[in-house]
Amino acid sequence: MRAEFPEFRLGSVLATSFTATLTERQGDSVERIPTPERLVDWLAVSGLAVDSCTPAQHDLARELRESIHAVATAAAAGDPLPAAAVRVVNDRSGRGRAAAVLTPEGKRQWRIGGVEDALGVIAADAIEIVAGERDGKLALCASPTCRAAFFDTSQSRSRRWCEMNTCGNRQKKARFNAKKA
Ligand SMILES: [Zn+2]
Repeated sequence: MRAEFPEFRLGSVLATSFTATLTERQGDSVERIPTPERLVDWLAVSGLAVDSCTPAQHDLARELRESIHAVATAAAAGDPLPAAAVRVVNDRSGRGRAAAVLTPEGKRQWRIGGVEDALGVIAADAIEIVAGERDGKLALCASPTCRAAFFDTSQSRSRRWCEMNTCGNRQKKARFNAKKA
C-alpha cells in the first residue's frame, strides 16, 4: 500500500531534495524511500522518471544519498570532504548517461534510460552546489534532531532550517512552550 509510506519533502534543489528522503537523521529517522518502488515514485516527481528499479539499484541510490549527505555536511561545516563519499559521488556522476533535452516550450528535461542515469543527474547536481557553481550557500539545519545540509538561496544567506514548515515550526513551537513553562 503506497499510501502508507511517509510523504516526500521536495525542495527546489535536486541534490538536497534527494538527501531529504531520509529525515531526522539525528533523531528518530524517517526513511521516505524504503523500497525500490518508492524510489521510482520519487524519481518520477523529481523529473527523472524511470520504468523500474531493482533492489541493487535501490542500494546504489541510498549509498549515493548518504555520500551526498556526508559531502554536503562537511562542505557546509567547512571541514575536509570525506574521500570515500567523494568517490561515490564522482563514480555515480561518471556512470550516468542522461541527456539534457530542450522541450518546444523552452524547458529542460532529462532523457533517462534507467536508475543509473537518474543517479548521475543527482550526483552532478550535488557536485554543482558543493563546488559553489550555483548562487547559494550550503548550511546545516538548526534543528538538533535534523542537521540536514540544505542550500540557502535567501538574499541574506541566513536561513536556519532546512524547511520552514517542518523543522522551523517545530523549533518555534519548542521555544514558545519553553517560555510558557
Ligand atoms: Zn531540518
